[in-house]
Amino acid sequence: MTTPTIELKPSSTPLSDAERDAILANPGFGRHFTDHMVTIKWTEGRGWHDGQLVPYGPLSLDPATNVLHYAQEIFEGLKAYRRPDSSVATFRPDANARRFQASARRLAMPELPVETFVEACDVLVQHDKAWVPAHGGEESLYLRPFMIATEVGLGVKPASEYLFVVIASPAGAYFPGGVKPVSIWASQDRVRAVPGGMGDAKTGGNYAASLLAQAEAAEQGCDQVCYLDAVEHKWVEELGGMNLYFVYGDKIVTPTLTGSILEGITRDSLLEVARDLGYESVEERVSIDQWREDTANGTLTEVFACGTAAVITPVGTVKTDGTEWTQGNGEPGPATMRLREALLDVQRGKAEDKHGWMHVLG
Ligand SMILES: *Cc1c(COP(=O)(O)O)cnc(C)c1O
Repeated sequence: MTTPTIELKPSSTPLSDAERDAILANPGFGRHFTDHMVTIKWTEGRGWHDGQLVPYGPLSLDPATNVLHYAQEIFEGLKAYRRPDSSVATFRPDANARRFQASARRLAMPELPVETFVEACDVLVQHDKAWVPAHGGEESLYLRPFMIATEVGLGVKPASEYLFVVIASPAGAYFPGGVKPVSIWASQDRVRAVPGGMGDAKTGGNYAASLLAQAEAAEQGCDQVCYLDAVEHKWVEELGGMNLYFVYGDKIVTPTLTGSILEGITRDSLLEVARDLGYESVEERVSIDQWREDTANGTLTEVFACGTAAVITPVGTVKTDGTEWTQGNGEPGPATMRLREALLDVQRGKAEDKHGWMHVLG
């Protein structure tokens, strides 16, 4: 299948420098979008075609479009950072591209070639480079590639037409007032994903399934839900959109991938960064009982969540049916903060990129 080249049809009315600067002064997360987007179509028998960079704007969809009814949809999330020399780089876009292919396979969608995914992100970032916040803090330009089934009709089957889109949104620091631990509700009855399900695919359906549990967590006074495995309700899996790490002194542990855990790129990167810093990093099963007991006996010193949006978020308190405990003294722990700075420094171009993760765009 041939790789489409992306035709450039840039906006004739981009925001002024002043309007853009006003947004970049306080971007928040996912509230503002850049001047452009990239779209590529796929049609059965023809493959990928009509790649375009166009002004950001609404999609026009027939009410019977497949995705609106049966949720054949996948997405990705990655960030572009400004570097000290003012160039811009994305973090491991090839890893997102490969995960996008894996998600596509699980949802019976066509696979976008890795180089086309990366090219689409590059073209958008290059045209909207002025939207990548200045170097220094943790601000970035968040890229959201996604694909939807666009065939019109209510028949249940893999669609014969798809649309791939990349949009971009400036993102402020996740913790503008300093890193703050989250509280976790470990749900004993809601599950996010099941063996044989689609928990390891990055698809909107998993998020739809998590919203009720998230509302229940809020009722319990907690920020986030921690999901346990769907069979034994015992093994810790992950949060709704972040993976988990457990710090045992010099050893850091993340739950083994089971097929119902999303394979986070931050999770994968931290296994390496931790080794670079002299920690032993391993994948092991962790039960909710072990989590509670090891916190009580003092061997489990810190717990943190990780994902592209927040990079690393410390876990402060954990609440589950009948019990509640605090991790350490409830403040961000030293290993958590050290790993967070180390990974962020690679992403911001402040530290050596030993693993060749940064994709520099100039
Ligand atoms: C995206 C996502 C993550 C984190 O993945 P990163 O690649 O690190 O951003 C973790 N869990 C779920 C369910 C996700 O959708």
